[in-house]
Amino acid sequence: RIAEVDGPVEAGVHAFLHVDGEGALARAAELDADRARGEELHPLAGVPVAVKDVMVTRGLPSTAGSRMLEGWIPPYDATVVEKMHAAGLVTLGKTNMDEFAMGSSTEHSAFGPTRNPWAFDRIPGGSGGGSAAALAAFEAPLATGTDTGGSIRQPAALTGTVGVKPTYGGVSRYGLIALASSLDQGGPCARTVLDTALLHEVMGGHDPRDSTSLKDPVPAVVAAAREGARGDLTGVRVGVVAELGGTGHAEGFQSGVLQRFAEALDHLRAAGAEVVEVSCPSLEHALGAYYLILPSEASSNLARYDGMRYGLRVMPDGVHPSEVTAEQVMAATRAKGFGAEAKRRIILGTYALSSGYYDAYYGSAQKIRTLVQRDFNAAFEQVDVLVSPTAPTTAFTLGEKLDDPLAMYLGDVATIPANLAGIPGMSLPVGLAPEDGLPVGLQLLAPVREDARLYRVGAALE
Ligand code: GLN
Repeated sequence: RIAEVDGPVEAGVHAFLHVDGEGALARAAELDADRARGEELHPLAGVPVAVKDVMVTRGLPSTAGSRMLEGWIPPYDATVVEKMHAAGLVTLGKTNMDEFAMGSSTEHSAFGPTRNPWAFDRIPGGSGGGSAAALAAFEAPLATGTDTGGSIRQPAALTGTVGVKPTYGGVSRYGLIALASSLDQGGPCARTVLDTALLHEVMGGHDPRDSTSLKDPVPAVVAAAREGARGDLTGVRVGVVAELGGTGHAEGFQSGVLQRFAEALDHLRAAGAEVVEVSCPSLEHALGAYYLILPSEASSNLARYDGMRYGLRVMPDGVHPSEVTAEQVMAATRAKGFGAEAKRRIILGTYALSSGYYDAYYGSAQKIRTLVQRDFNAAFEQVDVLVSPTAPTTAFTLGEKLDDPLAMYLGDVATIPANLAGIPGMSLPVGLAPEDGLPVGLQLLAPVREDARLYRVGAALE
């Protein structure tokens, strides 16, 4: 299937940056041999998985969509990759993404964009557009993602697939190439809620190598998905987030998105849920806070790409090798290795953290982050889950927002609050927008550690 639809780069889906066909077949043969010896295998043994290129894989390229890491072969596996291998899942290859996971369209990949399988002139969302497109094009049954501000949920919405951002700390960040460490969260992607739950249980759990990893056992999300599939939500209280496409806040939301969202609310009521509107006023400021906190953390995390330790090294032009300084190598490497969006965010972040501006920008953003957490805590005293559209519009056209960063950022309005608060979120498909026939996603949010609620309610809506 990959050979049929993925290439060429200019015209195919281009979900994959690297396909490891031989490695996958060799692994499958090993599993067959284990089975023949009578070994008890995990129920998912032999199921192929597409791995987002931000997760490092031993012996396989891991670029995070950047020239900066082109040609680098990691000597170790991310914990999530280790856990998937231990369960017998077979890595098919590495999926395309916006450079260092900065973006909402996968157009910021240094290796060319991914196309949306629903309409090839459309973006698949981002940053994890490769994983989402691989699922939508039936190139893989399971995929992984990372979600710092929506990079699992928004591509899921735009491709008609399911994606979950677990509670912060629920899935190890060890071996995930860092964007913004206080927001980054790995998670599962699939075509159904139950498949997503099966992968979630494999990926999740405590990791002593990640100091922010939760000590809790993995939530029982598979059981929750099975329970939800019975379709009975009697007693479940659902809150519509007023500020995210609710009453009086529909500006910027496409009519077909709001229509499918309203129908999904009817389905929730029909399943026995009580649906009320709740207000989280600080969400009006969440996007602004996120786009200060993220660049600040990113500017610090990306300082390691200096042309000295690993990845790309560019020698400056016109300087005799015996005269070259380390600073000149760093400057030449970073000038050539980073794309425009990475540079934009490094500059924004460095500015926000600089002496004299720190309190006004970074400090204020952190205060808003606290308010967002408080608003969610208050909302979850009234309801069990919150809902909103995942994205204000369906998939936009390739190139449409590439030169307008602000327009690109505004599309993240509904997904970024969950990252600021550390709460879990899911996007699942709720039909096609009548005006363009493209998928619409519904977002579910739950309190910290209550990931199972997403699966119960999500499966009931499926
Ligand atoms: N679109 C958001 C951004 O550009 C989210 C990125 C992410 O979740 N990695 O920052």
